[in-house]
Amino acid sequence: MGKEGPGPRLGNEKRLVTAIVLAAGKGSRMETGVRKQYLELEGRPLICHALEAFEKSPVDRVILVSGAGEEEFCRREIVERYGFKKVEAVVPGGRERYHSVYEGLKAAEGSADVLIHDGARPCITREIIQAAMDGAAAYGACAAGMPVKDTIKMVDDQGNADHTPDRSHMWLVQTPQAFSYELIKKAYDRLFEHPSAQEGITDDAMVVETMTRHKVRLFKGSYENIKVTTPEDLEIAGIFLRKMEKTVDI
Ligand code: C5P
Repeated sequence: MGKEGPGPRLGNEKRLVTAIVLAAGKGSRMETGVRKQYLELEGRPLICHALEAFEKSPVDRVILVSGAGEEEFCRREIVERYGFKKVEAVVPGGRERYHSVYEGLKAAEGSADVLIHDGARPCITREIIQAAMDGAAAYGACAAGMPVKDTIKMVDDQGNADHTPDRSHMWLVQTPQAFSYELIKKAYDRLFEHPSAQEGITDDAMVVETMTRHKVRLFKGSYENIKVTTPEDLEIAGIFLRKMEKTVDI
């Protein structure tokens, strides 16, 4: 591949940008009966925080990917109840994250660029969304991330340290990850044409890295843009959100 760029530049014409917000995970590491996207965080279901950030951002529309069978619940109890006007569709996700993304991508047809975001990252800011949009327009493929602070060890099957990669070249990767629609759709089409390539796919940048020759540019997200995975993450996200609200209200 390699020549799929950011798509045609049409002078000052606006590029249609769609955010795909993922909320089809099972959240089994949360150890609660309620799916984590609906757990209460600062008085609202967790998923509302990411949706609100996109609502207030310059993206044109949002596709929400819900658990299969939860579309109607999400439409009524999340989208309508909290008044998210940019959400154009709620589509059912699939077994693995990459299945859910593919459903979102099919629903986002007609976009120039797409931002793919984990609904479980509630502390996303307007600045990060803008950086993702700029990165997609400039490079065709970009992902938020932050340099690692800890030493990372590669560990063997017995739990012994095998080697220690050079920390200065290691980043923790986050979402949003943003792409020209043409590039990411082609990369995912290929992933689904080659099921053997699906093993171990954990993010969208990896699909582009594996299925195309296009480079994915990393940009700095924030150390606060955490993914809520375990119960303690929910408490930490609450602290960050309260801080963000204070900053916005000034
Ligand atoms: O499982 P993981 O923590 O990587 O999930 C990241 C995001 O992807 C979450 O927002 C989750 O809801 C979403 N996801 C999904 N469909 C899946 C698995 C995860 O939409 N099958």
